[in-house]
Amino acid sequence: MSKIGFIGVGNMGGPMARNLLRAGHNVTVCDPVAANVATLTAAGAGRAETPGDLAAASEIVVSMLPSGKELRAVYLGDAGVIARAKDGALLIDCSTTDVESARAVAREAAGRGLRFIDAPVSGGVAGAEAASLTFMAGGAEEALEAARPILMAMGRNMVHTGGSGSGQAAKICNNMILGITMIGVSEAFVLGEQLGLAPEKLFAVASTSSGQCWSLTSYCPVPGPVPAAPSNRDYKPGFAAKMMLKDLRLAAEAAAGTRQEVELGDLARRVYERFVEEGHGDLDFSAIIQDIRRK
Ligand code: NAD
Repeated sequence: MSKIGFIGVGNMGGPMARNLLRAGHNVTVCDPVAANVATLTAAGAGRAETPGDLAAASEIVVSMLPSGKELRAVYLGDAGVIARAKDGALLIDCSTTDVESARAVAREAAGRGLRFIDAPVSGGVAGAEAASLTFMAGGAEEALEAARPILMAMGRNMVHTGGSGSGQAAKICNNMILGITMIGVSEAFVLGEQLGLAPEKLFAVASTSSGQCWSLTSYCPVPGPVPAAPSNRDYKPGFAAKMMLKDLRLAAEAAAGTRQEVELGDLARRVYERFVEEGHGDLDFSAIIQDIRRK
């Protein structure tokens, strides 16, 4: 069993680190939020003060951070993970970040002879808890194969998407679909309400018809049809609206870089921008239905 350091044990990282403990690994965690650390130490994990200290004591480092900014802060610099990691360490970042940050960290790691893969996930908090995540992994084949047993303790599928940064490219495109479909599903339920259609009837039809999608069947924005969806617990995330906005901004930046127009992606970004500016960023992204209803 491996000595694994886990950095960032929030909504996703917490249950992912717990699954590594369950699989019998020796896990040490690091997170500035004391309550998040305490949940893991109570489950048997060790604790490190800084990401650098954690890296110095680990064979494998896994991270699950908010964005590329934190990724760079944690991995780069004299006190960072790359500077302090053991020779031969394997570094796996599961956060959703911009492609360039993932590539910058991969380059720095390669400069020290360390293996780094960008392996963002799909499946949400429920997938993290059930160890059923899908990983989209960018990096060298050999690094991916070394990471496979660790990733499979936290998920079910891994797609090798190509070189460094390609996992993030896949994630950004996937989440652009997710943001657009959540708004679409929410508009359909609100329109259905206006037409006198019971939400459970619309769900019964759409979930077995061509309107079927993850936003509907896993994160249904109206309470009732999907008991595990955040809509049943006052839209507690789940996947926070501010995180969805972050991903839609990543899509916009990536599109601008390639000069590819993403009209609906941009519209979805503006819808979530307004929602977050109005102070709802900490609600699950499916709470967008409340915004649509208010209009
Ligand atoms: P979160 O805010 O709950 O967790 C992030 C954790 O990182 C927090 O505990 C925070 O304290 C910690 N952190 C921040 N800076 C740190 C630092 N410098 N050192 C150590 N720890 C630090 O967010 P989350 O919902 O768990 O999402 C994490 C990542 O996973 C994001 O990139 C998100 O886009 C992605 N993601 C989330 C979901 C989801 O459903 N929540 C699904 C797929 C992907």
